[in-house]
Amino acid sequence: MSELATELRARIQREGFITVADYMNAVATAYYARGDVFGVTGDFTTAPEISQTFGEIIGLWCAVTWQQMGQPGPFYLIECGPGRGTLMADVLRAAKQVPGFASAAQVHLVERSRALRNMQREKLAGIHVTWHDAFATVPPGPCIVIGNEFLDALPIRQFQRIATGWAERVVRLSSDAFVFDTHPVDNAPIPIPVAMSAEVGDVFEYSDAVVRFVAEVAQRLVNGGGAGLLIDYGHTSSAPGDTLQAVKQHQYVSVLENPGSADITAHVDFAAVKNTARTHGAAVYGPIEQGTWLKQLGIGVRQMQLARGKPADVARTIEQGVRRLTEPHGMGALFKVIALANPGLPPLEGFAVT
Ligand code: SAH
Repeated sequence: MSELATELRARIQREGFITVADYMNAVATAYYARGDVFGVTGDFTTAPEISQTFGEIIGLWCAVTWQQMGQPGPFYLIECGPGRGTLMADVLRAAKQVPGFASAAQVHLVERSRALRNMQREKLAGIHVTWHDAFATVPPGPCIVIGNEFLDALPIRQFQRIATGWAERVVRLSSDAFVFDTHPVDNAPIPIPVAMSAEVGDVFEYSDAVVRFVAEVAQRLVNGGGAGLLIDYGHTSSAPGDTLQAVKQHQYVSVLENPGSADITAHVDFAAVKNTARTHGAAVYGPIEQGTWLKQLGIGVRQMQLARGKPADVARTIEQGVRRLTEPHGMGALFKVIALANPGLPPLEGFAVT
């Protein structure tokens, strides 16, 4: 039995249960602490690992946004959940095309995993980087915040409709196995939209961690200036549905078996992201589908530039990567892009309704 499973068992024996959010937090922390879990030989593949064009387009978006901000120097270029560091490396390389951006950017990475920090340090050798366990400790000032597949890793709470109302979904022990169960919510207010209609058994998800994070980013942008770009898979309106999932070696596996051995995530509720950002005074763009956003910013042109003069097989690999990022049956439709901004900024690139 893993150290994590032993710890979780002891905690459940002591406290009777743990919430889905506490379970997810413990599992995700242990999982990412292992280090390199990405790519074909790992458990899952993210957009920056599929094609360099993803980070390059984001890099140019960052540079243009910086110009829209009035080219502050210095400013904070913050990435949340940078994984291997590939996205930031591609962003900085592409943004070199805009004079002054690289020297004005102070790179701050929000990353809890020490093993992943080491990978990021290697990938970004030669660049001065400051790491944080949480967004809250990044110093105040003008900033551009990016995060790809960060929100989906933050813990969610689950509420389940039972005959008498809503109950919190929790994890308990049955013999030696982890099982889902419910626990009465007592009198604490539950964050379920009043208009939500649900049948017995339906699950509604709410992420305190996502809401807290988005609120902090929005406040930061409103007070210090700048914009944030968050990309993730999820739904555009709040609705019931159990989206908690675990993935190991590119296959779905049980969320409750062998905790810490698989990536645990949940779909992002973009309606909650949008409402939270607006409540804190930020302008919001999107969410729009990743494929649409990347195409509006010229990923096709970038693909052609990269493929020019290359052998046919290399050109094909470049094309396949871009298709996977943009096509609806790949990542183009499930993944969404949302941006938050200081309300004084001109409209951000890529979100024009065409
Ligand atoms: N953005 C990368 C990696 C996505 S995986 C990519 O696209 O490839 C999620 C990342 O978020 C990992 O780097 C993980 O260690 C980090 N992470 C997850 N939960 C976190 C938390 N609560 N605080 C800080 N970093 C977290």
